[in-house]
Amino acid sequence: MEDVIIVGAGMAGLAAAVELKRNNVSFRILEAGDGVGGRARTRILRSGVAVDLGAHWLHGDNNPLTQELARYGVTARPDEGDAIWLYRGGEARQEDIESLMEDAIRGDLADAIRSGEHADVALPDLGVDDEARDMLATFGLLWNGVQPPLSPSAREFLTDENTPGGVHVDGGMCALTSAMLAEAGADRVHLRTSVCRISETPDGARIQSMDGSVWAARRVIFTASLGVLQGRLVTFAPDLSATFHEQIAGLVMGQVNKIIIEVDPAFLAGGGVPVDMALELLDGEAPHFCHIHSAGQPVIQIYAGGRQAEVIESLAADQALAYARGVLAPVEALKGFEAHVVSPPIVTRWVANPYTRGAYSCCLPGARRSGPVTEGLVTFCGEAFDERFPASLPGAWRSGKAAAEIVIGELAKAPVAEAV
Ligand SMILES: Cc1cc2nc3c(=O)[nH]c(=O)nc-3n(C[C@H](O)[C@H](O)[C@H](O)COP(=O)(O)OP(=O)(O)OC[C@H]3O[C@@H](n4cnc5c(N)ncnc54)[C@H](O)[C@@H]3O)c2cc1C
Repeated sequence: MEDVIIVGAGMAGLAAAVELKRNNVSFRILEAGDGVGGRARTRILRSGVAVDLGAHWLHGDNNPLTQELARYGVTARPDEGDAIWLYRGGEARQEDIESLMEDAIRGDLADAIRSGEHADVALPDLGVDDEARDMLATFGLLWNGVQPPLSPSAREFLTDENTPGGVHVDGGMCALTSAMLAEAGADRVHLRTSVCRISETPDGARIQSMDGSVWAARRVIFTASLGVLQGRLVTFAPDLSATFHEQIAGLVMGQVNKIIIEVDPAFLAGGGVPVDMALELLDGEAPHFCHIHSAGQPVIQIYAGGRQAEVIESLAADQALAYARGVLAPVEALKGFEAHVVSPPIVTRWVANPYTRGAYSCCLPGARRSGPVTEGLVTFCGEAFDERFPASLPGAWRSGKAAAEIVIGELAKAPVAEAV
């Protein structure tokens, strides 16, 4: 019997594994997919260009993962784009992202919500006027992936420490997750092992996977996404408490997908397209965010949120190219990009992915996240369980590490006989 079974080898699972390893606690990781990283997945294209299918930035100045990069000797470069091009009403204008946001929100209301003097509101209700409210609703759609009339919590928007910008990891996020895997021990991970049931027995926890294998451990750290939890794709005996279900009912799974297009490097560099060019295209049927020439890579990334994220999942490569042509039509600097495409476009499918069921969690107005939650022998963590860096890699990392610390404490208290 292992001390701990970790369900999921994404950022939270790897962070928990590293912490257990450092404390000499025995563990195994059961991962449903065919690789580690979860939503921090990188694809290396034939040209050697690394593209991140999920997380792409380590945001802000305060990101605890920046220190982890340094510890593992993984290099990164700061995002150079502090301005964004807004395409609206047939016109394009460049705005500084931070001042755009500051000017859009009611400072008095924001301060009162931050201090708790005013109840939380829906993000668009922070807006100073209709135009600002509209912009904040679009922000909720593209960043949080929630479709109006659903809106993110204004309080979480105001307190989230994932500020814009940040760094791009050289070689993609897999450079970090591979370093963590190497420290935790690749031999501890069982891929293609989809857990379907976790039950308490007199001896500890019994973990059952879809292929019929059964594992035993003294404790479980569960990191599968909120989408997996809310879809009740894993059953628990005893069932999870009503309080637990109430707590996660205040969160929804946001939907975000990308179309990633590799172009001839000379097309972007020769055409004077700046590194880390950010665009928000607001005139089409649905808004899109685009990041072009990310970290100097010859790549165009188009993001769609909410319902549109689901729509693009069904696009085949040629359809994705036609779709991108339509979205990027107003952008002068990218005219004729189709002639310079060097590999089939990649369309991510985070909504259809049975092991994520969406992109990341979004906190609804009035709801609050917490850190990891323990129910019986199982401690739940992951990006949905961190207040400071919600819905992101640093949040997943912090909660995975915190879950491991909780479990190490519990194991120290529990008599060893329990495990025999
Ligand atoms: C399009 C997109 C863009 C993003 N951009 C950013 C960004 O720029 N910066 C940032 O910080 N964050 C970003 N994120 C969010 C970030 O990727 C996630 O917050 C983070 O990766 C979540 O890590 P996690 O360990 O909590 O969950 P996951 O990465 O989902 O890991 C959970 C693991 O559990 C596995 N699993 C699920 N069910 C089972 C089961 N039944 N049995 C066994 N294993 C199972 C899954 O396969 C997965 O590997 C983005 C996400 C997406 C999708």
